Amino acid sequence: MGPEYRVGLGHDTHRLVAGRPLVLGGLTIPHDKGLDGHSDADVLLHAITDALLGALALGDIGEWFPNTDPRWQGAASHIFVEEAVAEIGRRGWQVVNLDCTVHAERPKLSIHKKELAGNIAKLLGVDVSRVNVKAKTGEKVGPVGNGEAMMADAVVLLGKRG
Ligand code: MG
Repeated sequence: MGPEYRVGLGHDTHRLVAGRPLVLGGLTIPHDKGLDGHSDADVLLHAITDALLGALALGDIGEWFPNTDPRWQGAASHIFVEEAVAEIGRRGWQVVNLDCTVHAERPKLSIHKKELAGNIAKLLGVDVSRVNVKAKTGEKVGPVGNGEAMMADAVVLLGKRG
């Protein structure tokens, strides 16, 4: 049998509200609104965590880190990614590559894409050449386009260690 691979998909949505810092991909990005949620509400790292868990049929972020658990109140979401990566490693798998898209009307994320990719690569323990971050607006329609929410999609490929 040839090399073994698994693919995982993640998606997340969070509301944008005044009075919260905007934490995205583990970075704090200057903006007049932030993402609302139990943790730091990092929509991108949540989508990435779900993609990682999904690849090995390990359920979803809500099962691993319930938003009813006070431990995750205000938690920095890089913890979720790091725990998922650690579990993948324990099971003998490693990240081959990750691609993701952030959907946001504002702020302009194109200037942050490189830094986001670098930070995500560090969290995944892979070279930055294996991580891609894309940014899309909502074309001024729907919750993203109206600036009410941000969404993120992520897809990850895992390979079995030889
Ligand atoms: Mg979330």
